[in-house]
Amino acid sequence: FADVMHHGHHVQDIEYRVQHSDGSWRWHSSSALPSRDEAGQITGFQGIARDITARKQAEDEIRTLAFYDPLTQLPNRRLLTERLEASVDLCRHENHHGALLFIDLDNFKILNDTLGHDQGDRLLTQAARRISGCVHKADTVARLGGDEFVVMLHRLSHEAQEATQQAEIVADKILAALNHPYLLGSQEHHSTASVGITLFHREPVSVDELMKRADLAMYQAKAAGRNTQRLFDPAMQASVTARAALESDLRRALTEEQFLLHYQALVDDDGQLTGAEALLRWRHPDRGLVPPGEFIALAEDTGLILPLGQWVLETACAQLAEWARDPSLKHLKVAANVSARQFRHPDFVPGVLRALNTTGADPHRLKLEITESLLLEDVEEVIGKMRQLRARGVTFALDDFGTGYSSLSYLKRLPLDDVKIDQSFVRDVLNDPNDAAIARTIVALAGTLGLRVIAEGVETREHWEWLSRNGCHTHQGYYFGRPGPVGIIQEAIPNRTPPTQRASSPIRANPRPDADKRPGSR
Ligand code: C2E
Ligand code: MG
Ligand code: MG
Repeated sequence: FADVMHHGHHVQDIEYRVQHSDGSWRWHSSSALPSRDEAGQITGFQGIARDITARKQAEDEIRTLAFYDPLTQLPNRRLLTERLEASVDLCRHENHHGALLFIDLDNFKILNDTLGHDQGDRLLTQAARRISGCVHKADTVARLGGDEFVVMLHRLSHEAQEATQQAEIVADKILAALNHPYLLGSQEHHSTASVGITLFHREPVSVDELMKRADLAMYQAKAAGRNTQRLFDPAMQASVTARAALESDLRRALTEEQFLLHYQALVDDDGQLTGAEALLRWRHPDRGLVPPGEFIALAEDTGLILPLGQWVLETACAQLAEWARDPSLKHLKVAANVSARQFRHPDFVPGVLRALNTTGADPHRLKLEITESLLLEDVEEVIGKMRQLRARGVTFALDDFGTGYSSLSYLKRLPLDDVKIDQSFVRDVLNDPNDAAIARTIVALAGTLGLRVIAEGVETREHWEWLSRNGCHTHQGYYFGRPGPVGIIQEAIPNRTPPTQRASSPIRANPRPDADKRPGSR
């Protein structure tokens, strides 16, 4: 009010706090006008003061609600975003680094589901306090929701390496703090967390982008086994971007019919063609022929395997139907690969039957290759579906046998017809006694379970001989032919000398090394 008295200024609505005699604080808002005598001299002022404590409290509350997380009282996403924007600016101008740490509690959902939300809330509150204890006052700890926390570190070194170290030290501190047992009611609970770190410095980068990077790094920490930290690096992003591009290409591929099936011969001990395995190929407009190893996993993750797998079944069945019309080919079988996700889908059995019905293919000539990953979930259901299809004549082979986790008791119960020894054992069967022992064991085991054994990856005549001598009677591999357009199966029924006759001159060890690269139809 000195201004009013000395200069005659008019003061309007200034807000200030006063302490009452009982020690409590009140907010006032005042306006004042100078009052003058006849000579115009200021003699005092007239003012109004209002108590605005209630309004101030309401404003505070609104601000708290808008900017803070009600459970932990930490800044929420909105306030974090504001502060982060400011910090990014500051770092650019003052030439030091800042860091963003994404923290996600491991397996929090399980705790929440088993112990209840009250206990979950308690753990979150304690975690919030612990994280806050690991950083300076000027840094920000925020909660994004759920079990996700974010720490923004301020004023790290201007030197990248040092700044990284500083951020990693804090991340380690946080991990250690979150590792201590939590007391929830009377129970002790253990928890861990995963932390993703990204730094920012002078290059302009949006808050959104920074959050994405830290989030991505956090997922890498999870993938690395949890209870650890990972630093964002651009290669991470490149791989995510590539994956996203692949996914959209894959969706288009389905509608634009870029898929085709190649076939690889299956032969018996006499070198006679008994059938072929259908192997999926993708004729990518820019990348050429893409092998399934590069897109099946993504197709499974995205669910695209369902329409894709159905297409494989229908195309393979159509091939069977076509062979059935040719007396010299009508005995051939087709083996089609089925992914676990495809098999588990409720429409799987109806889908197979549909493919058989619409094409008129003989179900007895269709073999489905499944993998051990199917056995990780509900084995009863798997058995049920297999039975339904076997009742129609469809047969089953367990692919890549020996590489998975199947327990023998499951194997015994599965209504299988064949197991396929994985090529990794076949490859070294001649020079690695361990692999030879595994292969022999698989054959013996299959024998006791009444299953036949198919060997894949048969690359040389010596493989063929060894396998045939050791009880494996169906063979597949480069020695007999690489996968290729269906035509190569039909034309390549060479009469190889059976291994038992020990021909001295080896047959073309690699009859069609580039069969896969030849243009062809499905
Ligand atoms: P798989 O079913 O075990 O198929 C055998 C793989 O071994 C094929 O690779 C084949 O080209 C390769 N191979 C055959 N003979 C030899 C050999 O002598 N030496 C070596 N080193 N390799 C040989 P491909 O075609 O790249 O397929 C890879 C995998 O992709 C398949 O393994 C199968 O798991 C999956 N796959 C292929 N087609 C489909 C499909 O239609 N649906 C699903 N879900 N998966 C498929
Ligand atoms: Mg297979
Ligand atoms: Mg295999």
